[in-house]
Amino acid sequence: MTVAGGDTMRAAVIREHGGPEKVRVEQMPRPSVEAPDDVIVRVRACTLNRLDIFARQGISGPGVRAVHLPHISGVDVAGEVTEVGMGVERWRSGHRVVLYPGLSCGHCGACARGEDTMCRHYRIFGEDTHGGLAEYCRIGAGNLESLPDDVPFEQAAALPTAYTTAWRMVVTVGNLRPQERVLVLGAGGGVGVAAVQIARRLGAYVFGVTSGSDRAQRLEEVGVGRVIDRLTEDFESVVMNETGGSGVDVVVNPVGGATWRPAIRSLAMGGRMLICGATIGDDPDLSIREIYQSHRQILGAPLGNRQDFRSVLDMLSRGEIKPAIHATMPLEAVAEAHRLIEEGKSFGKVVLLP
Ligand SMILES: [Zn+2]
Repeated sequence: MTVAGGDTMRAAVIREHGGPEKVRVEQMPRPSVEAPDDVIVRVRACTLNRLDIFARQGISGPGVRAVHLPHISGVDVAGEVTEVGMGVERWRSGHRVVLYPGLSCGHCGACARGEDTMCRHYRIFGEDTHGGLAEYCRIGAGNLESLPDDVPFEQAAALPTAYTTAWRMVVTVGNLRPQERVLVLGAGGGVGVAAVQIARRLGAYVFGVTSGSDRAQRLEEVGVGRVIDRLTEDFESVVMNETGGSGVDVVVNPVGGATWRPAIRSLAMGGRMLICGATIGDDPDLSIREIYQSHRQILGAPLGNRQDFRSVLDMLSRGEIKPAIHATMPLEAVAEAHRLIEEGKSFGKVVLLP
């Protein structure tokens, strides 16, 4: 079904909500420069997130907006510039780039402070616009960061959501210190592995909760000191036993739901739980007294800001971190990639190559 003329492209399109079979690769109009600061990027790698699953399923709610159909999802993109608008000076065709997916107004108080994710007009590329699960995408020039020649596209595309969010939680909001002990829930997921790697980089001791021996082994390889298999062990008991009853200083919890109460109980006096997701439930059981009586804190962030993104990009560029990649697949395998994320069996990121 190739159309001559070069004005179409292959894209993973969601035309109706439903199961993984609802995302299909087909020909779509190729994006072109419309505004003076628009840039067209040839997508070389795009990684999947929960947002891609929500977009396909039609799930919306606090923090997750309904998408307009037909939709091309894909938040995390690395590629090459192919075309720029008249107002773009910094970027030229052929430049290697990675995209920061946050779209903000650029002039409100939050934006002026650099807290673009707190902008009232904050939107996300690939959720509120067509994203990167296609041969080409369009984004404003201000969202690009330069990618050094020796950093592979697949690794760069792992950063924008998972690693930026993990940095936001562990470093910017969580202020993790080298001597501290951390418990990472969902440690095999995108944000989980990123949090483990960043916490280890800072020198902290890490407990990681996952399921299955494959992922347990891979968590040990990225530096988890004690892997807890949630199918056979109770993480609160393990943490309490192995910390002599004092608990951990920090819990990273991208999971939510029924993990909240034992996670809060696993915290030491003055400990903090860092949250960025509710993949297994948004309405947890909790005890208010268990929080304030022990000076515990709960701190949240939906995504990192531009500075958080630059921090992880610098770390990757200096070779200080190697993003965990579960699988690299052609765009045509997008439905299978959705299944991998949805079943929660992957370790790290799933990359698609359009
Ligand atoms: Zn703003």
